Amino acid sequence: MSGFSWGYGERDGPVHWNEFFPIADGDQQSPIEIKTKEVRYDSSLRPLGIKYDASSAKIISNSGHSFNVDFDDTDDKSVLRGGPLTGSYRLRQFHFHWGSTDDHGSEHVVDGVRYAAELHVVHWNSDKYPSFVEAAHEPDGLAVLGIFLQIGEHNPQLQKITDILDSIKEKGKQTRFTNFDPVCLLPPCRDYWTYPGSLTVPPLLESVTWIILKQPINISSQQLAAFRTLLCSREGETAAFLLSNHRPPQPLKGRKVRASFR
Ligand SMILES: [Zn+2]
Repeated sequence: MSGFSWGYGERDGPVHWNEFFPIADGDQQSPIEIKTKEVRYDSSLRPLGIKYDASSAKIISNSGHSFNVDFDDTDDKSVLRGGPLTGSYRLRQFHFHWGSTDDHGSEHVVDGVRYAAELHVVHWNSDKYPSFVEAAHEPDGLAVLGIFLQIGEHNPQLQKITDILDSIKEKGKQTRFTNFDPVCLLPPCRDYWTYPGSLTVPPLLESVTWIILKQPINISSQQLAAFRTLLCSREGETAAFLLSNHRPPQPLKGRKVRASFR
């Protein structure tokens, strides 16, 4: 592949990604703006079946584009089923997207509303494919659960994460992170929108069934500020903060967004 090192800056940000990843201009790109008047209720959409095992959480790392919590995905210990999905999708990792200030930062937008941040819980189709990497190239390979974060009360479930960020400040750093069940981060209401889309970061593969929860969770302004203390530079390089890491909404190009609720 190319030596293009992508990011969120003026020179390496989303408007430049198509120079090295032509799929950036494809027909099923993410994120999108969800226009609730154009969404159709689909009575065939089932409730989500979420079964995670806290012991499958393994490592938290700074990718330089976000921070990832990675899970052991060698068996079906932690899976997502139901909703718009056929079969089991195994939990691989979760990460967040945020903005330079609290008034924006989510990737998906709802009727013009931009939330302060967005959580992505990434799963792959372990019924059909042998690995995450192979699944990521197939139209039914990945399922990403998206959860909006709004500024509000301190969120105690996020504290374990924000407390550990100091130890993975630089890009490439990682540390052990276990006994964490991401279901604790989900809102009580499981109503969702779903549509076919892509990874929102290079290689932008169009292999994602998106499941976006309607109800946001809370994060305090102080907690979100901790995300922005991460660096997108490696140890020994000139320090650069990862202040913002969200891709703007992409054209819908005829796709339909369906809702699990009226
Ligand atoms: Zn993401």
